[in-house]
Amino acid sequence: MGWLTDWRRRRVLRNHRMDEALWPRLPFLPHSPKLKELALLFLAEKQFTAVHGLELNDAMRVSIAAQACLPILELGLDWYSGWTGIVVYPGDFRVRRTEVDEDGVVHEWDDELAGEAMPGGPVVLSWDATAHDPYMNVVIHEFAHKLDMLDGIADGKPPLHAGMDARAWRKAFDAAYEGFCDAVERAQDTWLDPYAGEHPSEFFAVISEAFFENPAETRRRYPDVYDQLKLFYRQDPA
Ligand SMILES: [Zn+2]
Repeated sequence: MGWLTDWRRRRVLRNHRMDEALWPRLPFLPHSPKLKELALLFLAEKQFTAVHGLELNDAMRVSIAAQACLPILELGLDWYSGWTGIVVYPGDFRVRRTEVDEDGVVHEWDDELAGEAMPGGPVVLSWDATAHDPYMNVVIHEFAHKLDMLDGIADGKPPLHAGMDARAWRKAFDAAYEGFCDAVERAQDTWLDPYAGEHPSEFFAVISEAFFENPAETRRRYPDVYDQLKLFYRQDPA
């Protein structure tokens, strides 16, 4: 079915142009024609749903699409295939969590989230966090989780390209993650959001945000991780 997808995509690009006035003014977003084309295809293939009274306009959709496409600029839209939904809440949203412990006791609690990426399902975003959170890029964060999950497990390691060395990836990320968790424990300044210490998958999502938004500093602080991200994303933003 690859030819059909290609045909549809060519048709979308023939019939649509990115409205420059809608392109988000974000300093880390390149004004590249390739990124704009990718965002157009993303808008054509993904389905946006606004909930809880939020009104989604074109500028908001383009902003999400542009940021979501930055990580896959050199990978292609097929890295986001197999699901279509993007659900946008006006602000942080509540989800009910359930866990059964070793004794069979069921624990339930509510989490307040700015974003969530479901395996094989939609990406859920808080518009307020997407537009205004100065400390995180919730779009890049959730879409990095999507890439991480592609091999069936959210463990901080997406499927690596042929020629990449899984041991080199592990070595770089394990060392960085351990050092990071130590710093969080000792309450030292961690530069990255301490939330990155929750799990290796969160570390990957948070440092992916930094890779695109603050590449020079990411390279300075985490040179080995930067090199692996450069190989995976096939970009060198610094
Ligand atoms: Zn996360």
